[in-house]
Amino acid sequence: MTPVLLTIDTELSPAAHQRGVNWMDNFSTAILGRVSDGEWGVAYQVDQFNAHGLKAVFFVEALCAQVCGLDMLKRVIEPILCGGHEVQLHVHTEWLEWIARDPVDGRRGQCIADFGYTDQHRLLEMGMEALTKAGAPPPLAFRAGNYGANNDTLRALATLGIRYDASYNISYLAGPCRIVANGPLLDATSLDGVIELPIASFRDFWRHDRPAQICANSISELRLVIAQSVARQRRAIVIVSHSFELLNRARTRANRLLVRRFERFCELLSGRKADAPTTGFGALEPTALIAPSAKAHPLRSHAGRTVSRMLEQAIGTILYERA
Ligand SMILES: [Zn+2]
Repeated sequence: MTPVLLTIDTELSPAAHQRGVNWMDNFSTAILGRVSDGEWGVAYQVDQFNAHGLKAVFFVEALCAQVCGLDMLKRVIEPILCGGHEVQLHVHTEWLEWIARDPVDGRRGQCIADFGYTDQHRLLEMGMEALTKAGAPPPLAFRAGNYGANNDTLRALATLGIRYDASYNISYLAGPCRIVANGPLLDATSLDGVIELPIASFRDFWRHDRPAQICANSISELRLVIAQSVARQRRAIVIVSHSFELLNRARTRANRLLVRRFERFCELLSGRKADAPTTGFGALEPTALIAPSAKAHPLRSHAGRTVSRMLEQAIGTILYERA
């Protein structure tokens, strides 16, 4: 049995804030996914998960509460907890630009890894405090904005009592993700005082790794991630999505192709509860996640599946990406 962590990064858009969009409109689009043809964000996703008997983890961005207020964060968290899902910590340091009580003396960075250990500790603590004040239980897990964590992030998390990190994204290693381990991480590993749960990935063509993300994989690729992870006895499968992921890029309406894929993925997971049950970090068994195991090898797709996904995405772009 391989637990599945269905993770949804849940966040206001710092870019929209920068453009002068007020927080209520930002919340309405980026969190609720409220657009011209319906509502496709957190409430819709919670309903779908519940209809299929699935459990999800919402990584809620918390620094924005210093800018938009705690009440906004409460509104984000409430439907998630009421729906029976987990809230964990997500931090985007882009928000520092507008925080009046600057916790890092004017230092700035696109990602938390751009900061030294002490600043990172302070930023994480600030995020934890905002989440708990807004009604969430103390977080057990963290994901850095832009996957931009490094090993200092892991050490700071361990000091703060956060046991799990889910920032490791193999496709971002040449960029913002700066977590260093002994070789590429393909499965749960103990690292710098926490348990690192890498985002699942697969090889879609020669030496190219593709992360498991609902908007970036076809249903056939998502199916292979689940099936091959179970067959290879991975310790956990981490899948990524976002609160706004089912919208088109202009965030003016739904991308129906993604909505359909999201629903089909829920159906798929619903049919695999026996060998790939969705779960939260609170229900993970740490000792099972770090027990010694044989070397993990990449999951593999094939060229036909890659081409078919590219065609599907091209159709989605033509049909839904025109605002
Ligand atoms: Zn994010």
